[in-house]
Amino acid sequence: MCIFCEIIKGNIPSKKVYEDDKVLAILDISQVTYGHTLVMPKKHMANIIEADDDSAAACLLTAKKLAAQIKKNTGCAGINILTNCGEAAGQSVEHLHFHIIPRYDENDAIVLRFDPSKEQDLNEVLKTVKGE
Ligand code: 5GP
Ligand code: ZN
Repeated sequence: MCIFCEIIKGNIPSKKVYEDDKVLAILDISQVTYGHTLVMPKKHMANIIEADDDSAAACLLTAKKLAAQIKKNTGCAGINILTNCGEAAGQSVEHLHFHIIPRYDENDAIVLRFDPSKEQDLNEVLKTVKGE
């Protein structure tokens, strides 16, 4: 059973922020920050890599529009939009979703850090990334 499919079908209650024929946006039950919202395709697909282009595009366009709406209405200082793909990346629900996370200050309940790792040979990395 997929919990988000059950929410989409209306079998599990949710707080709907936005809905159309392709996309549903709901408040995240955990509210990492005030206004934390999830955007998901109505069709089941596991993650962004497995998504069909139409669903991925519809979700991202909705996330873009809702980010502006949420920023205006909450007065947050910034917003993170992110999708976790795979357990190793922190995905706990295997139905594609984008988090819209309003940011208020450095003391809010989410920490995203981009620390440099060990130095890499960028030419070698580029070859790997391009599959050469
Ligand atoms: P993930 O870890 O897969 O990127 O994010 C899953 C998110 O779904 C979590 O932030 C979690 O709080 C949220 N979530 C899990 N179950 C429910 C639910 O039943 N209702 C709602 N609204 N959110 C849920
Ligand atoms: Zn599902």
